[in-house]
Amino acid sequence: MHALDWHLVNSPHVEALPARLLRPRARANADARALAQAPWGLRRKSDGRFLATYDGCRLHALWHGLAREPGLAEAIAAIDASCTHGGPPWPLPLAGLQERLDTLGLDASYGETSGLALVPEPSRLEFAGYDRYRRPLWLLEPAARAWRRMQRAARADDIVLDAISGYRSHDYQLGIFERKLARGQSVQEILAVNAAPGYSEHHGGLAMDIGTPGEAPAEESFEATPAFHWLRDQAGRFGFRMSYPRDNPHGITYEPWHWCWHPAAPAAASPASV
Ligand SMILES: [Zn+2]
Repeated sequence: MHALDWHLVNSPHVEALPARLLRPRARANADARALAQAPWGLRRKSDGRFLATYDGCRLHALWHGLAREPGLAEAIAAIDASCTHGGPPWPLPLAGLQERLDTLGLDASYGETSGLALVPEPSRLEFAGYDRYRRPLWLLEPAARAWRRMQRAARADDIVLDAISGYRSHDYQLGIFERKLARGQSVQEILAVNAAPGYSEHHGGLAMDIGTPGEAPAEESFEATPAFHWLRDQAGRFGFRMSYPRDNPHGITYEPWHWCWHPAAPAAASPASV
């Protein structure tokens, strides 16, 4: 399987990735061996724990509590459906998210006041290369293709763009909140910088954070770099737009590094001939 055909098969609790991508992160030799021998590795979304490998018919446990793990059957069904049907990905249901928002004291009024919408996770994402930290970058197919084209075009102009982050799950965003809360930040302080879990554009697989070597990730100083000037002038050609310019209506801090891919607007209808 060519690397550019790799994908992440998503389900509510568990994600399946090409096992070879998980291998460098395996904590034990036995896990690394199992991951080397199977096409799929299954990972718990809430904390990234390796659960099992899957070869299309058999699960091989990487975790002794596998029998009690919720969401495995759904993950297997998702892999099987993805392999047999292909077709475009669909949005996963949002059930379960509200419970997590309740734990943060957030209700529907957050969406109303921020003007942000709930963003479902897609059922499948494409491998779009590696990010700055050598982690796989996952995006929906058209955004992955546009990102690779844009990165190549920038390089031809002597500009190096690197990905800092692409798709992130609801669970991942919740983890950001939990870590910051544990460090003593309030929910309101965190919301000035991070969208609430479920409301980040990163959940949909079309948004990414972009950086350039030598520049700290996700800092406003990015706007002074040649890479940012190139993006400001050229990103639109590839379908990318900055989501949070200065003084945006969502009350989100200016984010010159955050870009989202949008499908091309349909060509304006030609005026009726007279
Ligand atoms: Zn972002």
